[in-house]
Amino acid sequence: MSDGEIREIRINPVVPGESVLVATARSMRPKKAEEHAPRDSRKHVETCPFCSGNEDRTPPAIAVYPDSGAWNIRIVENLYPVLGDEKSHSNISFGLQQIIDGYGRHEVIIDHNEHGRAIHEMSASHLAMLFTAFRDRVSALFESDRRLKYVLIFKNFGPAAGASIAHTHSQVIAMPVVPENVQSEVENSWHFFRTHHQCIFCTLIDEALTFEATIYDRESGQVRRKISVGQYVVEKGKRFIAVKPFASRYEWEVHILPLAHHADFLSVEREDIEDLARVMKRTMARLEAVLGGAQYNFFLHSVPHDNHLEQHQASYHWHLEICPRTSIPTGFELGSGLFVNTLSPEAAAERLRCAEIPED
Ligand SMILES: [Zn+2]
Ligand SMILES: [Zn+2]
Ligand SMILES: [Zn+2]
Repeated sequence: MSDGEIREIRINPVVPGESVLVATARSMRPKKAEEHAPRDSRKHVETCPFCSGNEDRTPPAIAVYPDSGAWNIRIVENLYPVLGDEKSHSNISFGLQQIIDGYGRHEVIIDHNEHGRAIHEMSASHLAMLFTAFRDRVSALFESDRRLKYVLIFKNFGPAAGASIAHTHSQVIAMPVVPENVQSEVENSWHFFRTHHQCIFCTLIDEALTFEATIYDRESGQVRRKISVGQYVVEKGKRFIAVKPFASRYEWEVHILPLAHHADFLSVEREDIEDLARVMKRTMARLEAVLGGAQYNFFLHSVPHDNHLEQHQASYHWHLEICPRTSIPTGFELGSGLFVNTLSPEAAAERLRCAEIPED
């Protein structure tokens, strides 16, 4: 390993059971690059079921935005739901086989009436409308069925990220269980809160904005590690911040969090949504400027509406995780659960921060 190269296992501070091998030396790169999604910037595609004019090819709209005139955002049931709600069966267990009935809801949010409009190309006011639609659906789904414990909002962009229809869209899945990833965050942040009496996510934001340190080697006295203020900050608005996690699983992973403590995405107000839209647009523009058309997923993590909703209000902090898919997971990663990141998160944060993006 030469100077400046990293080979270290970093522990995710929120979920210590999850760790990442950051290995930047070229000879150690065990991963194959993922291709970019072919860019389809067409406004309208005659055969696309999500394009305007083809509304009869999808189930009827659950909601449209704005609520009168031509739609900009349209929400429909997913034709091929992962979880359906036709009939609820009781749970069954037999020996080691435990089964929870897969009831729930699966909806598609058609993000924009233009077929190939990318998130960073949408106006901030359109993105604000999109986040409002997200909030409205989460709220309506929780109210529709008390048995639902979690509503996951996510987006797949590009075939490797799981998108089967090219037209820009996000998805909502309402589930009868709390997903494992969220549960781990919730439990670990609760554990941190009980010990330190503060939210771990608020602490992370504080550290990103205020920490400075130099760590020296005990024997040689040489600098081993330098942490500077703002090193992990990619974008900062009045109410939201985009940060590069210190233990990023994906090379270009970025998280967006409210600066003020809020456990529940449903608590966002209009001013929050406006700032969130702006931070999201600018963050996606930075990723686009550096990566140019990478496939990605994003997903929203918020406090589950289960029996412990009140308990976790002070310890959990909702956030959006953006995960560009620039490399293909290997057997080592799948088999070990240890993610391999071949790019230093500090270098990635700097490149994103310095990227030139159009002013808004
Ligand atoms: Zn379309
Ligand atoms: Zn917090
Ligand atoms: Zn999360």
